[in-house]
Amino acid sequence: MRFPMRPASIGKPLFFLALTLLAPLGLFAQQSSSAYGPLPVFELHSGFWINLHHTLYYEAKKREPPANAQQKNNPFPQLKMKTMGDASSALSPAERQSWDSAVAYYAANYADKDLLFNTDLMLLKNQLGDFEGCDELSGQRKKTCDAGLPPKITQVLEAAAAVYRTHLWADHDRANRRWIARVAPLVEEQGVGISERLADIYQTKWPREKIRVDVSAYANWAGAYTTLDPLRVTISSTDPRNQGDGALEVLFHEASHGIAEVVQQAIIRECRQRGKAIPRDLWHALIFYTTGEVIKPVLNPVSKESADKQEGGISSPDPSPGVARDTYIPYAVREGLYQRGWDDYLQLLTRFWQPYLESKATFDDAIAHIVSAL
Ligand SMILES: [Zn+2]
Repeated sequence: MRFPMRPASIGKPLFFLALTLLAPLGLFAQQSSSAYGPLPVFELHSGFWINLHHTLYYEAKKREPPANAQQKNNPFPQLKMKTMGDASSALSPAERQSWDSAVAYYAANYADKDLLFNTDLMLLKNQLGDFEGCDELSGQRKKTCDAGLPPKITQVLEAAAAVYRTHLWADHDRANRRWIARVAPLVEEQGVGISERLADIYQTKWPREKIRVDVSAYANWAGAYTTLDPLRVTISSTDPRNQGDGALEVLFHEASHGIAEVVQQAIIRECRQRGKAIPRDLWHALIFYTTGEVIKPVLNPVSKESADKQEGGISSPDPSPGVARDTYIPYAVREGLYQRGWDDYLQLLTRFWQPYLESKATFDDAIAHIVSAL
């Protein structure tokens, strides 16, 4: 199902193409260029509308009972995110009413839908990203700011925008920029190398265009998500799971959702040949494992040296005691993903995928061994 665009917008493909091409020149890119220069591999945005959209979704979602077991276990991460509740004493009655009715609209129309899997939400998000340089969505004041969205959602977002801009946006934007500033030097130094290594592992090419990443106070229950066609990543700047060096891993884990298709296909093919059910999360566990292994030596230079001395592999043993720098622990280990049902996968990956990462086995053999051991 496509997002119900107004007919007027459907006839404007060139208009949209032009905006897409202009997007990298948007507000944030211009302002950040003096600090870090254009980054390789990723294009990091802190966009107003995308942040407003996710904040409304977050506040609406908080009114809902959790939709599934996974969300029940982790309904809302402890975000360091300012909400309208925190600002409530500063709101005028009219502002409170505008905001409440926007949250109510999201509660009625979107809160039960998944930001990652629902097509309407994906298209809305992408469109709001493309219009980050506009201070309206209806095009009433400026024709090029007609986002072509259905009138109702345009009206809801524009009405909430003034309240959001006055009471939350500065705070959210600051959190986003802080997150970007923290990860940017790592992307600048290591981004190309990591992207080439991952593309090589997944037997593919890294996308030629930089991957757009929308940094948002809230992203989704998982802290980050990635939508395909076009490949776009949304990451929460206030989620504790995405902080510090972990930011670099989250970026590349999310990007891997877009480039590890070959692995997914290989797993499916091997399962079919062996008449086995396709394990739902094996592919996801594999990209978690892989990103962690690729990132670890980059963030633990000492353990990389000792790994190189040992046998030149990318596997890094625990660094020697007394190493001053904090040891980087991959996301899946740190957040306990393996203990929560992926323990068998971890064993298979360590046994059969790790040798491939160390160039001691071929891709096809590694996948075949993993699937036959399932
Ligand atoms: Zn993932």
